[in-house]
Amino acid sequence: MIDVDDVQPTGLARLPWRKPMPPEQSEPLAQEILTLKKKLNAVILAHNYQVPEIQDVADFVGDSLGLSQQAAGTDADVIVFCGVHFMAETAKILNPDKIVVLPDKDAGCSLEQSCPAPKLAKLQATNPNFYTVTYINCSAEVKALSDVICTSGNAVKIVNASPKDRDLLFVPDENLGAWVMEQTGQPMTLWRGNCYAHVEFRRDNLLRLRKELPDAKIVVHPESLREVRDLADEVCSTEKMIAYCKTNLAKRFVIVTESGIIHRLKKECPDKEFFCAPVFDVMKMPTDNCRCSECKYMKMNTLEKVRDCMKNLAPRIELPADIIRRARLPIERMLEISARPLENAG
Ligand code: SF4
Repeated sequence: MIDVDDVQPTGLARLPWRKPMPPEQSEPLAQEILTLKKKLNAVILAHNYQVPEIQDVADFVGDSLGLSQQAAGTDADVIVFCGVHFMAETAKILNPDKIVVLPDKDAGCSLEQSCPAPKLAKLQATNPNFYTVTYINCSAEVKALSDVICTSGNAVKIVNASPKDRDLLFVPDENLGAWVMEQTGQPMTLWRGNCYAHVEFRRDNLLRLRKELPDAKIVVHPESLREVRDLADEVCSTEKMIAYCKTNLAKRFVIVTESGIIHRLKKECPDKEFFCAPVFDVMKMPTDNCRCSECKYMKMNTLEKVRDCMKNLAPRIELPADIIRRARLPIERMLEISARPLENAG
């Protein structure tokens, strides 16, 4: 919820700022969550885009690849998945006998919505030689139609490992797909889907920021448009952003992705400064708690909802056995290729 008093004028637009949840509110909730976690033998997995107070109670915070690897290896009885629906489904596919709960059942994704399974099946039927490489941001039904899954962290490796005699079909993110084509030189048919949050970033805004912060490195998520990727010092997944900012000698970074990642960046690189890329013209410099680049789906989860989903063991992810069986194969293929050393990835 945006508090009107927290909305600060910026000249061209009114920009809301995210204040962290006050400790007198977050601490008792976090305590309740930790007690429930012990009682349920639960593990709490949180995506890098979750609000700070959820990241702070999680056992693991990471990107889609890291979260899938954690889900595949957990011995907990209950997985509390603080992310969006397709991520919790992936955890269920990898753990059909465990209880998987999602704090808000409506936490969806524009990429998932752009690619309904019947439409994909229709396209696949036009070319029996298609080899479908599917970005993990899709429904379980779409995963079940895929040859291999990828994340933004391993998409280049996965495409390089794909059979050379097949026609590659990349779904559902056309921007990630285009970037992977640039990196691998592999032609691919691209599905016309995108992340509504990342395509809001624009070259002009970034050029203005670059003028203001000439010493800052620009780090861009590959779901962004090419006009934005072309300005980047580094294009990478959120997990690789953390590693890049940690090891790079620069002291200031412009981060072009969902602003939730800033919390982890600040924790892991306390001596560096981070600036969210704005999604519209700004007269005033953005700060590290800018909210204009938030994903509305990721931010549906709150600390209260995390507590409630653990208390009620609901909303729970349930999937038909046949979908789980078919969707598991391409996910396991991805995990296996991801684990290969680089020289054996092809
Ligand atoms: S940030 Fe984009 S890709 Fe990620 S969940 Fe939100 S809409 Fe989907």
